[in-house]
Amino acid sequence: MTSATLEPILKSSHLLGIEGLCASEVTALLDLAETYVALNRGGEKKTALLKGRTLINLFFEASTRTQSSFELAGKRMGADVLNMSVKTSSVSKGETLIDTASTLNAMRPDILVVRHHDSGAAELLSRKLDCSVVNAGDGSHEHPTQALLDALTIRRRLGGFENLTVAICGDILHSRVARSNIRLLSLMGARVRLVAPATLLPCDAARFGVEIFTDMKAGLAGVDIVMMLRLQLERMTGAFVPSSREYFRFYGLDREKLGYARPSALVMHPGPMNRGVEIASDIADDLDVSLISEQVEMGVAIRMAVLDALARGMA
Ligand code: ASP
Repeated sequence: MTSATLEPILKSSHLLGIEGLCASEVTALLDLAETYVALNRGGEKKTALLKGRTLINLFFEASTRTQSSFELAGKRMGADVLNMSVKTSSVSKGETLIDTASTLNAMRPDILVVRHHDSGAAELLSRKLDCSVVNAGDGSHEHPTQALLDALTIRRRLGGFENLTVAICGDILHSRVARSNIRLLSLMGARVRLVAPATLLPCDAARFGVEIFTDMKAGLAGVDIVMMLRLQLERMTGAFVPSSREYFRFYGLDREKLGYARPSALVMHPGPMNRGVEIASDIADDLDVSLISEQVEMGVAIRMAVLDALARGMA
């Protein structure tokens, strides 16, 4: 079976954000990812769907989970995978993003997965290159595969999104994970709350159409999912919180604060975690409530589904 004979899933030949996707595309991606969850749990984790295709990972920012899962996804699907190390590439000699990407484009990749510190970088590349572009995180704008893997994790545990309330807590201002999750969860019918100190909320947060809280007790009351975010110190241009100890006291998820949520509430975190800053270790490691390692597992399946979906539109 080749990807060209399979039913198309995405209207676009790129995945640049959750913005632009419709609910049926999200559902189709989640359904497709289920087949990859099963494959990944089996003995021989291989398909030949991307045989002959070339995938390039171009990461201008650090990554553990996203880069390794795209690499694994590509390899499990039979693609040739190249991980460009930006530190040892000509980017360190001053080459621009466009020049670096054009150089890689001339090598005729089929899919370029890019992470960059500037919002809009993936979209810019998608207009300049011949291959499919996947946004693996652009500044504080979007991180679509993170939101998709979070959605897959939630759907597997809770069956769907309708009647669910999800609290996204912490550094919303700098978080592309928050922006993609707000879009996806709202699109799929969940209620979304943002819980953060006023300094870590975007000034236009109200336009997301979500409920906003600056107090964990009120914000977590009755929620089904508590999604914690890292304090993104690398994106902060000043002091947004008095100290990490103070931050943990008011906004760090510990047993007491988790007690404000529904008794059955589950905890998520995209990683990397700062234990004792936004989340207490005993919560992060409590398998009865924490979905953190399940999120990582779903990350590989979602990235396989995204590669599969993009390959379906290729000649
Ligand atoms: N790994 C996620 C991202 O790249 C979250 C984080 O870094 O805190 O946005």
